[in-house]
Amino acid sequence: MERRVPFLDLRILDDQSRNDLLEAINKVFLHGRFILGPEVQEFEEAIASYCGRKYAVGVNSGTDALYLGLKSLDLGRGDEVITTSLSWIASANAIAMTGATPVFADIRDDLNIDPLSIEKLISPKTKAIVPVHYTGKVCRMPEIMELAQKHNLIVIEDAAQAFGARLNDQVAGSYGRIACFSMNPMKVFAACGEAGVVVTDEKELYDRLIYLRYNGVVNRETCYETSLNGRMDTIQAAVLLQRLRGLSEIIETRRRFAAIYQIELAGIVDLPCESAGEWNVYYTFTIRASRRDELKTFLEAQGVETKIQHPILMPEQPAYRNGVKGEYPNAQRLLKRILCVPCHEKLTEDDIHYVIKQIKEFYRSGV
Ligand SMILES: *Cc1c(COP(=O)(O)O)cnc(C)c1O
Repeated sequence: MERRVPFLDLRILDDQSRNDLLEAINKVFLHGRFILGPEVQEFEEAIASYCGRKYAVGVNSGTDALYLGLKSLDLGRGDEVITTSLSWIASANAIAMTGATPVFADIRDDLNIDPLSIEKLISPKTKAIVPVHYTGKVCRMPEIMELAQKHNLIVIEDAAQAFGARLNDQVAGSYGRIACFSMNPMKVFAACGEAGVVVTDEKELYDRLIYLRYNGVVNRETCYETSLNGRMDTIQAAVLLQRLRGLSEIIETRRRFAAIYQIELAGIVDLPCESAGEWNVYYTFTIRASRRDELKTFLEAQGVETKIQHPILMPEQPAYRNGVKGEYPNAQRLLKRILCVPCHEKLTEDDIHYVIKQIKEFYRSGV
């Protein structure tokens, strides 16, 4: 029988998991506070504590988290904000929507932003850096924080893919003045719908985020600043609180599968690395492969679903093409080689070995 290895499987088929979630949601039905209800507050406390931060503000998505986070720091027209060139477009859009200009830095072979490239792009207009912990691996934060300090720049982490990832025992989201997470259903720590959160240690930013997420309104009536509605659903907070309990197991499974890939595919394709002190959560397991497109087609035919995340660099999107600022030759080179292979907790070790066998087969036979 032919095997099918899906890139993701978001269904909740396990009875225990489904019943636990239904029970959590049922409590929300019974109290009826569907937006910013008690579970949201509990969720915020749990997230702040997990990240070792003073405050967390639950919002409607990771995109909202970034946009509101940038707004709370007064970034806007005339400011340049340096970010990576390879990410989900929300990273750049959140910057652009504040009125600030995104400036696109190059990446290293691990697909994360290159601190050397950041330094080259700093201008008198540069106000902030938005490093993205891409694929669930923390960026080179010690170097980035040092750069920021030296040039007096604000750091806002886009930790959307990296909840739980660590570098030298410091978690993603514990570095910047503001850090942003997405808990959309695809992420490692996932809601059953849209969800996001902003964390910070500063009371002033926290207070501002609280009203920025609700049309800039204080005490439900007085609008102090124009903003939009980015409040968090209570049902999503209830789901996330329940799922937080099983998160470490999910991460361990992904890491175990990643370790199998590392051993079995060494020397065949270029693999994600984990240097000393790095602890990745593998939002994606992204290999770099020669004849990538042919490999993808071959794997598809063998029932292995893969993805290219993302096939278009942010600065090369039509919306950004005119007068884009930045420099990213390594990203342009790597873009032709990246391929995300299945590496999630719904798979079995047999699935992983099947994927490995097919990749080996492709390169052995030179199909
Ligand atoms: C998912 C993601 C976002 C956006 O999160 P949403 O919750 O989908 O709005 C932002 N940045 C990165 C790097 C992401 O992967």
